[in-house]
Amino acid sequence: MGELGKIRINVDDIIGKRLGKLEVISYAGCRYERTKGGMKLRHFYSCYCECGIIKLVRRGQLTSEIVHSCGCKRRDFNGHKDEKQC
Ligand SMILES: [Zn+2]
Repeated sequence: MGELGKIRINVDDIIGKRLGKLEVISYAGCRYERTKGGMKLRHFYSCYCECGIIKLVRRGQLTSEIVHSCGCKRRDFNGHKDEKQC
């Protein structure tokens, strides 16, 4: 683990992994988000999609296999190309 005592989980464990279209590049940081169950600490990763977009993805989405692309699949389906927007 790192020298950051605040981070209780091993945030490096999925770095370098390929999950669907996304490749996890680096840990991007954490922040608290309001949920139904109160404030929860969320961890974010910079992920490189095979379409060329770098997207910030929540750890829970990566590990639970909800988000395995930047959304380019859906965009291809709709037929319009928005380079920056995911
Ligand atoms: Zn993509």
